Amino acid sequence: EFERLRLPPWLKTTIPTGSKFNEIKQQLRSLKLSTVCEEARCPNIGECWSGGKHGASTATIMLMGDTCTRGCMFCSVKTSRNPPPLDPEEPRNTAHAINQWGVGYIVLTSVDRDDLPDGGSLHFAETVKEIKKLNKDILVECLVPDFRAARGCVARVATSGLDVFAHNVETVERLTPFVRDPRAGYRQTLKVLQMAKEINPDLITKSSIMLGLGETDAQVEQTMKDLREAGVDCVTLGQYMQPTKKHLKVFEYVTPARFQQWEARGRQLGFLYVASGALVRSSYRAGEFFISAVLR
Ligand code: SF4
Ligand code: SF4
Repeated sequence: EFERLRLPPWLKTTIPTGSKFNEIKQQLRSLKLSTVCEEARCPNIGECWSGGKHGASTATIMLMGDTCTRGCMFCSVKTSRNPPPLDPEEPRNTAHAINQWGVGYIVLTSVDRDDLPDGGSLHFAETVKEIKKLNKDILVECLVPDFRAARGCVARVATSGLDVFAHNVETVERLTPFVRDPRAGYRQTLKVLQMAKEINPDLITKSSIMLGLGETDAQVEQTMKDLREAGVDCVTLGQYMQPTKKHLKVFEYVTPARFQQWEARGRQLGFLYVASGALVRSSYRAGEFFISAVLR
């Protein structure tokens, strides 16, 4: 029996339409660039793509295909032990499309590729280099897998010329085994984030926590402290949404007021910025936040 909590009003959203939005979409089609923003039907697309008062539009691109070697209990990406091989042209083609599209801040993310000896770290690094070669002013964030905390892989990405190194802790320590693939780990994630910072202290590091999975306030607080301890600069908090009946159920819908409290707490703990809200995703308005909090 599939019982769901009622969706609270603050989570009812509409996908933007209108001529400006359609124009951007059209442009994407002609560039053959597909974004996570569209594929995930992300409700933030209007805000992210417009770029707000800093004009720093943000979009997210998925590299290395649509098939993951892992299976997290909150994620609807398809899984296989042997996903198709990488497209060697992808770094260059992606960079060209991004440059022509004219986005201010691009988030490069990927599925986990445990089948590849380098976990796909070289592919990330090449894509960053190609983007920066065409336009060094495009801000680049890589939202990466854990690479099983292999130092060489983390270093390859951390020294590729990117601006922000992101890796998501996703949930509190106690819930990690129930939420993430068994190959992922809370401590491993902290280690990866700390390692990236050690290797390249100029990097801004970032992580993301989903709320509504049954975590306690004390555990969220501890997670934020652990992230700070690992040198993490920015954090985002958003509501977990169940993608299909087969995935983890939502334990609770966290109220907007509560999200605001977490934002304030995060600032007290010293994060450069905290994006916290029911609809916040790890790349939410990342360009605007970066410019206002990091470059100021
Ligand atoms: Fe795209 Fe991320 Fe913004 Fe959603 S939150 S529109 S996925 S950049
Ligand atoms: Fe989804 Fe990432 Fe987990 Fe793969 S590793 S199942 S893409 S959350």
